[in-house]
Amino acid sequence: MKCDPNLYRAASPSLAVKPRLIRHLFLPPLIIAMMIGLGYIGFWISEHYGIRSLGENGQRQLELHARAVESEISKYTYLPSLLELETSVSQLLADPTPEHRQTVNDYLEGLNRRSRSRAIYVMDTTGRVMATSNWRDVDSYLGEDLSFRAYFQNAVRGQPGRFYGIGSTNGEPGYYLAHGLEEHGKIIGVAVVKVRLEAMEERWQRARLEAFVSDENGIIILSSDPARRLKSVVPLSEETKEKLARSLQYYWFPLNELQPLARETLSEGVEKLTFPANSELVSDDENISYLSQTRPLSDTPWNFTLLTPLQDLRREAINQGILVAIAFALCAFLLIAWNERRKVIATRLAAREALQEANNQLERRITERTTDLRASNERLKGQIRERRQAEETLRRAQDELVQAGKLAAIGQMSTSIAHELNQPLAALRTLSGNTVRFLERGQLDVASTNLKTINELIDRMGRITASLRSFARRGDDKGQACLGKAVDAALQLLGGRVENIQLQLHRDCTDVQVKIDQTRLEQILVNLIGNALDAMQAQPQPELWLEGEEFDGKYRLRVRDNGHGIDAEARKHLFEPFFTTKPGEQGLGLGLTLSASLAAATGGHLGVEYPSSGGTTFVLSLPLVSPTPAEPI
Ligand code: ADP
Repeated sequence: MKCDPNLYRAASPSLAVKPRLIRHLFLPPLIIAMMIGLGYIGFWISEHYGIRSLGENGQRQLELHARAVESEISKYTYLPSLLELETSVSQLLADPTPEHRQTVNDYLEGLNRRSRSRAIYVMDTTGRVMATSNWRDVDSYLGEDLSFRAYFQNAVRGQPGRFYGIGSTNGEPGYYLAHGLEEHGKIIGVAVVKVRLEAMEERWQRARLEAFVSDENGIIILSSDPARRLKSVVPLSEETKEKLARSLQYYWFPLNELQPLARETLSEGVEKLTFPANSELVSDDENISYLSQTRPLSDTPWNFTLLTPLQDLRREAINQGILVAIAFALCAFLLIAWNERRKVIATRLAAREALQEANNQLERRITERTTDLRASNERLKGQIRERRQAEETLRRAQDELVQAGKLAAIGQMSTSIAHELNQPLAALRTLSGNTVRFLERGQLDVASTNLKTINELIDRMGRITASLRSFARRGDDKGQACLGKAVDAALQLLGGRVENIQLQLHRDCTDVQVKIDQTRLEQILVNLIGNALDAMQAQPQPELWLEGEEFDGKYRLRVRDNGHGIDAEARKHLFEPFFTTKPGEQGLGLGLTLSASLAAATGGHLGVEYPSSGGTTFVLSLPLVSPTPAEPI
């Protein structure tokens, strides 16, 4: 039963391995690249929306604190103009006597205390300080010439003098508000209020706010971080720097630029600034980014800037990016695992289906083969029946043939039998006649002797007819025979002929039991010895050898004669039925055929040899009943 090998054949390696190899080579880098890409997108979106949210929040803070700054500044706006109403001030400016000065000094001291400003002072039109609230202090402005101050120059021209600067006397920063004092439409002096705005810085610090106010020159004048103070937020040309230095507005401070590492404008007034690590403003090891929101302060040329650090947002955005990358990796892993599992299941299903298909095919074939086998079995049974019938017919035919052979042999032998029987009959006739005469003469002893001889002759005749009867009887394939007895019977049957030719017999065989019917063995021996006798008829010294030996569980009997032998042509047809070289009625050509067939029927064999010394040897092999050697016979 053959199975189709295609059903179990695995997929071609070239088809199965290459895509897998490609997948293994390209999938990991692709996944890593996508992880990085998606992580970056996650980071970017998180940062973008974070900045937007911070911006909205910062806008509110910006508005709140800018208003606070504006209100703080506007609080003092009208204070210098109030001095215009004060008569003591105009008196002093008109008549600068020590009394008038002292009066104004006291007035200004009281006013300064109440308004919580830093200092209030009055200058004449030349810029000299005529009276001041801090007249008691060692570093009082009294008598000082401040005509170089821009606020004075503006105020003396009738313009409002707004000015942030560092005091030239004590180096103290402050916001100066100046107002030209008019009398009858003419400026007679200038009133100045110096305000300290550091309270706002402290407020920002307390609120942990990073903010600063930059003036019209772009110089930071107020800052929650002292390190940023008096730094320029815009690039300053050398010319501007020199001009500012000459005005002593910022005393002798170098006015370094607060230059960021990177500046990105997000919208109007909103920038992203990155300051370098370990700079004088940033003590951290890494660059710091800020969201910078700027708004101009009303009534001043100043700007208020709120800085919102972006490190936390950046850190959060990085975390979000990492989370997105991990989530993607997880999804990719789950997808790959699911895909692999799907493929395994698909392969298993395909294999199961293939197996099922193969099984079905196998079963179909088994059914077909079983049907074929049953049919051929039936045919075989029929053939066996036919063979048995043929064998039966053959056996019957063989039996018939044997019987016919026997009868033919009897017919052949009838002449010699008749001769055998005629001799004793003639002797009997003579003896019986003589005996009658001897009885009549009273010679009883001679008559008695004759009668004994008659008895012996009758026995001999009985033996001849008995052996003929047993020869003619049907035998069977089974049974066992005694070789010695069979040889005796055959010789006895052929006794007359043996005596006629004065045969010299050499008998060298053992009395073994062989597996053949006794009668059949005798029949074979009669045939073989008879043929030998025929062949030796012309032989002056006929000799017959009966030699036996045990060989391989069988007994091998050689019947050798020194007759005329068999010529080459006759050898070819020796065992063919009805082949005979004997003339007329003498030969039927059945003896050897029958003998060979009888030997074969019991598992034995009949063969022929041609000795180089002449004559013929027939070799009869018959299975032994018991392989043990018997007594010599
Ligand atoms: P038949 O004796 O009737 O001829 P057989 O079958 O017994 O038939 O023998 C066939 C022939 O084999 C004989 O005619 C004879 O030529 C030959 N043959 C048999 N035995 C011998 C023998 N011992 N020597 C010579 N020829 C033999």
